[in-house]
Amino acid sequence: MTTSQTSREPTSASISANVRDMQPSATIAVSSLAKRLAAEGRDILNLSAGEPDFDTPAFISEAAIEGIRAGRTRYTPAPGIPELRKAVASSFSQRAGRELPWEGVVVSTGAKQSLFNACFSLFGPGDEVLIGAPYWTSYPEMVGLSRASAVPVSGAEARDFRLTPADLDAAVTERTRGLLFSSPGNPTGVVYSTDELRDIAEWARDHGVWLIADEIYRRIWFGDGGEAPSILDLDAHSLGDHVLIDGASKSFAMTGWRIGCSLSSPALAKTMSGFQSHTTSNASTPSQIAALAAWTRTEDTAAAVSEMREAFRRRRDLVCRLFDEKLPGFPYLKPEGAFYLFFRVDSAFAEGRESAAELCTWILEESGVALVPGEAFGEPRFVRMSYATSDDVLEDAIGRLATLLG
Ligand code: PMP
Ligand code: GLU
Repeated sequence: MTTSQTSREPTSASISANVRDMQPSATIAVSSLAKRLAAEGRDILNLSAGEPDFDTPAFISEAAIEGIRAGRTRYTPAPGIPELRKAVASSFSQRAGRELPWEGVVVSTGAKQSLFNACFSLFGPGDEVLIGAPYWTSYPEMVGLSRASAVPVSGAEARDFRLTPADLDAAVTERTRGLLFSSPGNPTGVVYSTDELRDIAEWARDHGVWLIADEIYRRIWFGDGGEAPSILDLDAHSLGDHVLIDGASKSFAMTGWRIGCSLSSPALAKTMSGFQSHTTSNASTPSQIAALAAWTRTEDTAAAVSEMREAFRRRRDLVCRLFDEKLPGFPYLKPEGAFYLFFRVDSAFAEGRESAAELCTWILEESGVALVPGEAFGEPRFVRMSYATSDDVLEDAIGRLATLLG
């Protein structure tokens, strides 16, 4: 009997060039490993996953349950139910102080899909896409899967890696088609001011480059007012072609519901929606109903978000204080938003642990603390710690790190 086609292990020659060079998500890989070790009984403190530890606010979950009971379990239009697209557009319009067309909103299966829709619809062979580094681990892969080239570009470390037009001038070529970055940033927690955003947006406009602004952490900001500066705050004339990425995962503690969204011109939204109609169709219908509650019950949502934001702020203060006290040899970027601490570890490199990746493996083995090495974010001198977990776990983890590294 011959081995059937389906049971054969794919060889590198039989795997399509589409995915041959792709690396699986490092953030997901580390957090899956940490979960597996914990399930095997190891004493693991998992500070790898970028995921709020809060339950989804009850009124959001209840809305989905009611929706399921009412039979809202069928396909919806590919870009989402119109009520949800309108509610998202209305929150963007309110923030921008001008009417933004709801036909420009596409609801997707997580911000990940929104980003992939944008990259796949806008970029292709021969194109270069500038990526603000340190970057979220999936950006270069998404650009690569679109068969374009990812070009990491980093601002000065003294500026907490924030990009300036001069950094972009040094990286741009005639093939540059896009600029992709996040603020508040993953993995840095760094937030661009409105002036800095304007500079970047106008640079992209003047160079005819698509600006993809990932603002999924916008509502997790520790400055006044709670919502970080946004490209929505810019005058319309400062913005050229652009896509704004947002979603429910982080702000509303809804990672597993898989709801993201994009705002672009209605014409591009139509293209992305057409593309999505061939990949996943609509985002899960019950999840859309949940998201509708999040985007329409604005007072309840604001109260829930504000409570979670305050917890993140308190934990940010706690981890910074503990680092100052116990790990003074490990400088970090002071997070202004999101829930990550990005700290420098090259002073701890030694034989057998000469990179952040090797160091993180050693830390996991020796102390059970799971962290994501900076290689995943294009900055191998650093390591990322997620502080979206309880004070006790944070204190225990930093105590273990201090014993091991201090
Ligand atoms: N952008 C950034 C910067 C992220 O950290 C994440 C985390 N998953 C995403 C997008 C994707 O979020 P999701 O697909 O869960 O909505
Ligand atoms: N965005 C989160 C992180 O950076 C979740 C995992 C992922 O999707 O990459 O850890």
